[in-house]
Amino acid sequence: MVGGSAFAAGGPTRIIFLGSPGAGKGTQAGRLSAERKLVRISTGDMLRQAIAEGTPLGQQAAPIMDRGKLVPDDLLIAMIRERVSREDCQNGYILDGFPRTLPQAHGLENIAGREADDRFFVFNVEVPHAELMRRLSGRRWCPKCQSTYHVDSNPPAKAGVCDRCSTKLVQREDDKESVVAKRLQEYEERTKPLIQYYMHHARFHSIDGFRPADVVFRELVGYLEGQR
Ligand code: AMP
Repeated sequence: MVGGSAFAAGGPTRIIFLGSPGAGKGTQAGRLSAERKLVRISTGDMLRQAIAEGTPLGQQAAPIMDRGKLVPDDLLIAMIRERVSREDCQNGYILDGFPRTLPQAHGLENIAGREADDRFFVFNVEVPHAELMRRLSGRRWCPKCQSTYHVDSNPPAKAGVCDRCSTKLVQREDDKESVVAKRLQEYEERTKPLIQYYMHHARFHSIDGFRPADVVFRELVGYLEGQR
């Protein structure tokens, strides 16, 4: 079934994507968002947007992100609180990149209620380390519309140029090798404990993300359908 009505009926659907940088969370969240008509909320995209606009949040976040560290929890929780209160989130939403720490998970509970809700799904996308490195080092990004590509596995039609808005693609500062190591360390130390946390608290499903995006997506949708 395509279109999301089954999920929209009876209350908001909330979906969280856990997984290391480079696991494919953004790709899967984007596809699910289009198919299920649910808003995708990417905290990384929101922060990069804030940086591009030069807002106070962006100014605070930029040096932290450039070092591959996590932005403070209180800023992220406030950002999500405001974002999910908007009209377009009333049928639910997909969180891509939040929560990333235990305090953020607690913050989400305060904002959106307890996990006993049977429309609260947590997907944990798992990918081996070498593949993460390959994906992150080959990733290219459009600074205007935030589309992402990969030089080998998902190249744009014209090399180095965004298919959607013709802007020149760049490598994100934090996808450079020295910063990637720090991001992966942050993931191991601060985000991975969320797997234990959600394993016992929600409709939790781990997915092998080391497969073609279509295959992963079908599994995801199959899981959601099976849980209706
Ligand atoms: P992403 O695009 O999801 O890989 O995020 C890029 C960067 O934004 C991360 O390395 C962090 O510096 C920051 N960031 C994104 N989401 C969060 C979050 N939930 N908590 C703290 N920092 C975040």
